[in-house]
Amino acid sequence: MATTCATCGTAATTNCSLCRQGLCQEHANRWHPLITARQLATTIFNTAVKTPNLLSDILLKEVGQVDYCPDCRELIAERRQSEQIKFLLCALLLMAMVIGLPTLLLLH
Ligand SMILES: [Zn+2]
Ligand SMILES: [Zn+2]
Repeated sequence: MATTCATCGTAATTNCSLCRQGLCQEHANRWHPLITARQLATTIFNTAVKTPNLLSDILLKEVGQVDYCPDCRELIAERRQSEQIKFLLCALLLMAMVIGLPTLLLLH
């Protein structure tokens, strides 16, 4: 059975990587897959330990791009935003600990 685009009904050339519905070239949104704050932190940590000079290279290469339907793209955009906030908060917390702990020790 040939798959058709869920939005316009023409022959599908690809499918959404999230909900798996068919998509034509026109309705496919090529985008980076969602990376959770935890995945990002793990990747950064592992790369920074092993090959710090390749950090930006590997981060860009690892995510790649996949296709999303318009609905899922919106969904991913929302989730991405909340993951970004989570990651920022964790980074801030970590920074506060790195700076705050020695300061506390010095004060006592
Ligand atoms: Zn279409
Ligand atoms: Zn979808």
